[in-house]
Amino acid sequence: MEDDEGARCRVVDVVVIGGGIAGLSAALAAAENGADTVLLEKRPLLGGSTAMSGGLFAFAGTDEQLAQGISDDPERLIRDLRDVGGERNDIRLLEAYGRHQTGVHRWMKAKGITFDVIKLGAGQSVARSHHTSIHEVLETFQAAFLDTGRGDILPDHRAVRLLDEGSRVSGVVVESPGGRSRFDVRGGVVIATGGFSRSRELLEIFAPTQTGALPYGGLGNTGDGLRMAWRLGAGFRDMGYVSGTYGSHPETGPEQQELLCAFYLGAIIVNKAGQRFVDESLSYKVIGDACLRQPDGLGFQVFDSRVRAKSTPGVALNDIDFLEDKGRLFIADTVDELASAASIDGAELKDTIARYNDAVCLGRADEFGRDALCNHVGERSPITEPPFYAYPAKTLMTSTYCGLTVTPEAEVLDVEGSVIAGLYAAGEVTGGFHGIAPMTGASLGMGTAFGRIAGCQAANRRS
Ligand SMILES: Cc1cc2nc3c(=O)[nH]c(=O)nc-3n(C[C@H](O)[C@H](O)[C@H](O)COP(=O)(O)OP(=O)(O)OC[C@H]3O[C@@H](n4cnc5c(N)ncnc54)[C@H](O)[C@@H]3O)c2cc1C
Repeated sequence: MEDDEGARCRVVDVVVIGGGIAGLSAALAAAENGADTVLLEKRPLLGGSTAMSGGLFAFAGTDEQLAQGISDDPERLIRDLRDVGGERNDIRLLEAYGRHQTGVHRWMKAKGITFDVIKLGAGQSVARSHHTSIHEVLETFQAAFLDTGRGDILPDHRAVRLLDEGSRVSGVVVESPGGRSRFDVRGGVVIATGGFSRSRELLEIFAPTQTGALPYGGLGNTGDGLRMAWRLGAGFRDMGYVSGTYGSHPETGPEQQELLCAFYLGAIIVNKAGQRFVDESLSYKVIGDACLRQPDGLGFQVFDSRVRAKSTPGVALNDIDFLEDKGRLFIADTVDELASAASIDGAELKDTIARYNDAVCLGRADEFGRDALCNHVGERSPITEPPFYAYPAKTLMTSTYCGLTVTPEAEVLDVEGSVIAGLYAAGEVTGGFHGIAPMTGASLGMGTAFGRIAGCQAANRRS
C-alpha cells in the first residue's frame, strides 16, 4: 500500500477528475459557487471523448425549436428517453434532467454558446439534437472556469486513488511528471473520468460480445474513475447494455470522426451478401450490435441522390459531403455498378432494394418492421434516383454509457444504495440514465447537467 502520508499535499474545496464536458461543467459550477477548485486531467490536453463528439445536445422546449415550429417539452423528452432506454432507466435521473435541462441550455447560451442546427436523432419523437461547435464549448468553459479566479487546471495529472476517512471521501492521490502528490478536499471529489471504451480489460469483463468493435473515444478513457469508486464499494448500473455505435468507416482515425447516419435520412444498410439485417430506424447502438454479427463486421449504407441531397455539411452524423470529399463513398449510376464497385452481391442487392421500395411505395412496414426514417418519424423514400451510393461502415466502441450508481444530486451510491459522503460523479462514468440505449445528444446533455449539479453540491458541502 502506498505511503500517501508522505506525498506533497494541497488542500482545496473541490477536486474534479477528468476534463471532458462533465468535468468542465462540474469545475465551472463549483468555482461559480465560490469553491477553490482543481481540475485534474491525465492527458496533456483536456477534452476526452467530448472533443471527438458531434456536438449534438438533446434539449426540449427551446427557443431554437420554437423558431423552427417544433413543438417539444420536458415531459416528452423524458418519455422518449424511457422508450429508447427500454424503461431500464432510473426514472429519478430522467426527471432531474427534465427539471434541469432548460437551465443548462440557458447557462450555456449565457456564456455565448450558440446552437445552429436542430436534427432528428436516435430515440427522438421530434427533432431535438441541438448542434454546436464542441471545441467552442470546451474553450468557453475552460476560459470561464479560469476567469472565476478560483480554478486551477492541471493536465498530465492522473488521479490514482480516492482517500477516505471512514465516513467520507477526503481527497485524491495523483501521479504527474512531478511525482506523486495528494489533494485533500473540504467539499468533495467529482469523478468525471468518462467511460472505458479504451480498456480492453474492462470490456472483456463487462461486454465480451462487443470486443470486435473498433476501439474509439478519448484515449484516456480506461475506466479509472470506475475502478477508484469500485474500490470504495460503489454500485454499478447498466453494465450489461454496453454496445458499439454503428456507422463509421473501417479506417476512421482518432483525429476526425466519420460517423454517418444516412439511414435516418432514408438509406438502408446491407451486408456484403447484399442483404439487410436490421430495422434501420432503431438506435445506432442496436444497429451496432447487429452489424458486429455480419461478415467482417461490415454494413454498407446504401442510398440514392434523394438521400444524398439531405446532407448537412459540418453537422455530425449528417455530413455526406465530407465523406464524399474524403473518398469514402462508392458512387455509381446503376445498382449493378455500385455493387461491383463495393464488392457487394449484386443480384441480392437489387432484390433487397426492390423489396424495400415495394414496402415504401405501398406505405407498409417492411420485412424488418421499419415504417419511418427514425423512431417512427419521417417519411421513407424509395431508392430509385441515380446516382447510387454505398458507405462501408463498422461498429465503433465510442462510449460505454454505464457505471456508477448516483442520486439525482450526483452523489455516488454504494452497492447497498447508501450515499458515499463527499463523492460525486457525472457523465459517461455513471449508469442509470440511458438504460439499454441512449438518445442522440443525451450524453452531452446529461454530462453537462449532472456535472453542473455535482459541482454545486461539492462546493456547497465544504466546511
Ligand atoms: C465520435 C463520438 C461522437 C459522439 N457524438 C456525440 C454527440 O454528438 N452527442 C452526445 O450526446 N454524445 C456524443 N458522444 C458521446 C459523448 O461525447 C460522451 O459520452 C461524452 O462526451 C462523455 O463526456 P465525459 O465528460 O463524461 O467524458 P470525456 O469527455 O471522455 O472526459 C473524460 C476525461 O477524463 C480523463 N480521465 C480519465 N481518467 C482520468 C484520471 N484517472 N485522472 C484524470 N483524468 C482522467 C480523460 O482523459 C478524459 O479527458 C460521442 C462520442 C464519440 C466518441
